[in-house]
Parts: sequence; C-alpha cells; structure tokens
Amino acid sequence: MGLLKMARQKSPWIVHFDCNSCNGCDMEVLAALTPVYDAERFGVVNVGNPKHADVLVVTGSVNHRNVRVLRNIYSQMPSPKVVIAVGACACSGGIFAEAYNILGGIDKALPVDVYIPGCAIKPEAVLDSVVKATSVLSDPVAQKRHREFAQQLANGKFTGEFSEQDDLSQEETSND
Ligand code: SF4
Repeated sequence: MGLLKMARQKSPWIVHFDCNSCNGCDMEVLAALTPVYDAERFGVVNVGNPKHADVLVVTGSVNHRNVRVLRNIYSQMPSPKVVIAVGACACSGGIFAEAYNILGGIDKALPVDVYIPGCAIKPEAVLDSVVKATSVLSDPVAQKRHREFAQQLANGKFTGEFSEQDDLSQEETSND
C-alpha cells in the first residue's frame, strides 16, 4: 500500500455540511467528534475546507437553494472522495420529503456511498460509517463514478434528475 493511500485510509479528513437539517443529526455528528466518542483515535479530523477533505458528511435534505452549495462543496474536494448521507432526511428527504421546496435525499444531487438511516442517528453510527468510508476511498468503481460526476459538474453538462436548469427554473418561479 502506497504512503498516500495508507494515510487516507488511516486518517480520513471529513467536512460536514448541514443541508437543511433540524440540527438533531448535526448534534450527533458533533458528539461523535468529541472526546466521549473520540473519532480522533481512528485518525478522523474535522476540517472546515473541502479542499482538504476526503469525506463529505451531509445532514438534512436537499432543496432548490442548497443543491448548488452542496455541489459546489463536493466539486472542491480532491479525488478520491466519499459522500455519507447522515439521517433519514439526507437518505430520503425524511419527514420533509413531500414539502414543496424539497428535492429529496442528497442522492438527488450527488453520488452517495454510505447511508446512515435514523432520526436522529447515533454517534456510534457516524463512527461506523466513517470506517466504512475508508474502504470506498480505494474502491475503483466508486471513485470512477465520482470522477465522472465531478467532470459532468465541471463541464456544466449535468443532466440528472435535478439539473442546474431545474434549479434556475424554480428560482425564477419563486421570484415571480
Ligand atoms: S433525520 Fe431527524 S434528526 Fe436528522 S435532520 Fe432529519 S428530522 Fe432532524
């Protein structure tokens, strides 16, 4: 195992983004990072800059406003990378799923590698998912999917279920 690969697997750096959560799951994510659960013993470091992060941890559901911010953060992360959906809202939209402004879970906006169901989730589940995420960092199939998606975003050619055009259409409608 190369030094870089070993460093990533032994010390995944995470960036946390609150998409639209009620803060219940965010409190549990923060609890996992405190000395009580001690994520640092697995080498996990919480960073504020996506350019330094290997793992994107997202809470809350995606709406027409935050989808662009979420994709912007994702695009800034270097490859290889992993996306974790934390809580029912991030997995499927949760209790907000049918709301007028909600697109759904974050897999409506990004490729997701690890899902943590629950409302709210437990800190132990966050630790478990980060350990699982380290294996995704060296998974060639998952990383190919991320590279292709990131390339589509960079080229402005993403034509997924909720494309940039859809976001703009929604914004124009809401501004009328
Ligand atoms: S899953 Fe539950 S606790 Fe987590 S953000 Fe959604 S409503 Fe809040």
